[in-house]
Amino acid sequence: MKKRILVTGGAGFLGSHLCERLLDEGNEVLCLDNFFTGRKENIIHLTSNPYFEVIRHNITLPLFVEVDEIYNLACPASPIFYQRDPVQTTKTSILGAVNMLGLAKRLNIKVLQASTSEIYGDPLSHPQSESYWGNVNPLGIRACYDEGKRCAETLFFDYHRQNNVKIKVIRIFNTYGPRMSPHDGRVVSNFIMQALQDKDISIYGNGNQTRSFCYVSDMIEAMIMTMQTGDDFTGPVNIGNTNEHTIMTLAEKIIALTGSKSEISYHPLPADDPIQRQPDITLAKKVLGWEPKVQWDEGLRNTIEYFRSLI
Ligand code: NAD
Ligand code: UDP
Ligand code: UDP
Repeated sequence: MKKRILVTGGAGFLGSHLCERLLDEGNEVLCLDNFFTGRKENIIHLTSNPYFEVIRHNITLPLFVEVDEIYNLACPASPIFYQRDPVQTTKTSILGAVNMLGLAKRLNIKVLQASTSEIYGDPLSHPQSESYWGNVNPLGIRACYDEGKRCAETLFFDYHRQNNVKIKVIRIFNTYGPRMSPHDGRVVSNFIMQALQDKDISIYGNGNQTRSFCYVSDMIEAMIMTMQTGDDFTGPVNIGNTNEHTIMTLAEKIIALTGSKSEISYHPLPADDPIQRQPDITLAKKVLGWEPKVQWDEGLRNTIEYFRSLI
């Protein structure tokens, strides 16, 4: 059955893929965005579809619309953008959550929160499972994002307990793919852009820190599967790829796949940069029957082709 679905942050990297997928499945999509990090280019191909609507709105302000489901993705995700106006980042997570929960409460509908592996901070437990409470510096430069997302989770669970709001919380681990912004400073976009232009690959620290990278189509699949679970399933559920690599290995891989002449250059490690990160996805496998399908080589090749088309 066709649903009217609100996607906040719908002009961003993940949001635009989600809007596209929901439209492909025959739904009506309201894409809400203030275009802080989102781009019209991400959604321009959808605007000819009469079932696609764009609302320019800041999620920190109340919103009165009539919809059947909400995916709450609005929030800058890359450190350089979320640290540019940290107060706004915290407000986006917290006031945005309150408004979307208030909307879901009034309409008695499901609301999914795009939470993050950052709620685990620099983890002392490895791999990270949902039962781990995290190791976050509340005063550091990443706190506007990490603590904002942690408090948003608190709000989701309190609205669930206090007002019976139907919530779904997913903890997204590093995700990459076409439509990442080439200027957002994230490791995959930086390295590919540098490699394609034969510029030095900028490694922060010694490159031994690890991340686990999930391709965007796998992430979108899991988001939709989580939304489709019964009302008794709230999460939080980790969604990500378990293939953990060092940042140095990623640099070498991207140089090899692009045939680049780039060399490695070393730069200081930013404050509070997590040393290692890998999701434990046992719960996602069990409850959703989901696991990532796209291998690193294929995902990186697609992403490289996207960035090549931008240069
Ligand atoms: P993105 O920056 O590309 O998208 C975020 C979107 O939200 C942008 O379009 C931006 O303009 C919009 N936005 C920001 N503040 C807003 C506000 N106050 N009002 C309305 N719109 C606003 O980032 P993304 O990678 O697509 O991330 C989407 C969501 O997933 C975010 O909530 C992020 O925290 C979460 N997430 C992403 C990753 C990842 O690896 N990409 C990892 C963990 C969590
Ligand atoms: N809200 C909204 N759209 C709605 C319903 C509520 O944006 O359709 C906002 C509302 O402005 C409020 C917030 O969500 O600030 C929380 O709503 P709730 O009902 O929990 O709180 P209350 O209105 O009682 O303060
Ligand atoms: N990083 C890097 N060079 C870059 C950008 C990032 O070495 O040009 C490192 C960064 O310090 C971190 C990892 O790559 O250890 C992932 O960074 P990103 O900002 O992509 O994601 P997050 O730290 O939020 O997981």
